[in-house]
Amino acid sequence: MQLTERIKNCNGCEACVVACKYVCVKMEEVDGQKRPVVNEDGCSKCNACMLYCPLYMPVTMPEFEEFFQSDEDIRGREMAPIYRATSRKVKAGQHAEFVGTLCQIAAMKSLRGDKNDRNLVFFPIYCDEEQRASNPACAACTFYK
Ligand code: SF4
Ligand code: SF4
Ligand code: SF4
Repeated sequence: MQLTERIKNCNGCEACVVACKYVCVKMEEVDGQKRPVVNEDGCSKCNACMLYCPLYMPVTMPEFEEFFQSDEDIRGREMAPIYRATSRKVKAGQHAEFVGTLCQIAAMKSLRGDKNDRNLVFFPIYCDEEQRASNPACAACTFYK
């Protein structure tokens, strides 16, 4: 079964892409949105993709006092390489900075096992009302209380 059938309001964060050790989750454009598609032939049914999905297994989000704006298409970025590169830095004990929306920060945290890594600093990008109304996943976003 496809992840989007199991995860309600998938926001396309890409944590599942990194979580799948069998490399069988790929992002594709579905109805104008980036969404994961599982190659069912290669799938071992290990469920890691679901267990690392922050919508399925929520993480403890940091409390942010300040948000940032970005001119870059921060939501359209290919995230999997960024999560991997950040994780490598954190594991090596280097200072790492992660710029992303709250759903991307949740994904990064999930892939780090929901730890509070001291050498990982988050810079949250603000999603305004217009963004939150722009598609069903954002309209259902629970990262903004
Ligand atoms: S990890 Fe992200 S992209 Fe994957 S199913 Fe969950 S919300 Fe969607
Ligand atoms: S169940 Fe396991 S093998 Fe299948 S897509 Fe998810 S992570 Fe990959
Ligand atoms: S509104 Fe929520 S789901 Fe949509 S991009 Fe922002 S943080 Fe992610």
